[in-house]
Amino acid sequence: MRAWRFLLLVLSLVGSAHAEDIVDVLRRSQQQRFEAQPGADPDSAPAQLVRHSFAAVLAGLPELPPVDLRVIRGPVLAETVHGHIVMANESLADLSEGERCFVLAHELGHVMQRHWLQMALVYQRWIPGEVHPGTTDPVAGALGREASRLAHRQEFEADAFAVRAMRRMGQDPAIALMAFMHLGMTQDTATHPGTRKRVASLRAALAETP
Ligand SMILES: [Zn+2]
Repeated sequence: MRAWRFLLLVLSLVGSAHAEDIVDVLRRSQQQRFEAQPGADPDSAPAQLVRHSFAAVLAGLPELPPVDLRVIRGPVLAETVHGHIVMANESLADLSEGERCFVLAHELGHVMQRHWLQMALVYQRWIPGEVHPGTTDPVAGALGREASRLAHRQEFEADAFAVRAMRRMGQDPAIALMAFMHLGMTQDTATHPGTRKRVASLRAALAETP
């Protein structure tokens, strides 16, 4: 999701009856995001395939993170909410095993590298106390820019994590480049670098000695 839209959504949740801090508001926003995704039929062949690949990626990690998987359908391909719930679309079953593992390992990279906590700390630094328009409006622009920069960095870090995870699984991490081709070219958004930057960063990660 675009950071600006995310920020606007977050700030639109401000103003409930009782005092909340910004992390409460972020959690509520994440919960809305979670509940908005329709679940896939858990017994369907695509859902089982996604779960199987997820377990394979987890098995290759040096330590097991506290993580849950929810297989979804709808427009979202893969996303992590609350720092530990990976939502993965049943349509990942249409990709090759390597591409699917890359996408799932990328999401696990967000979990393992505590990206949700990092983002929450940025929001908390800009809005340290009670949340209301008087505390959010003056900092919204600067906060949005910093959150966007961090979100981009987290995407590159999650891709690099996925490359390392693929190597540990004995899979060719260069398959990730195929995944980007199959998923189509995208431009920069506030939360995600566009395909061109992702591929450049990925090539750098691939060039690193294992
Ligand atoms: Zn990501």
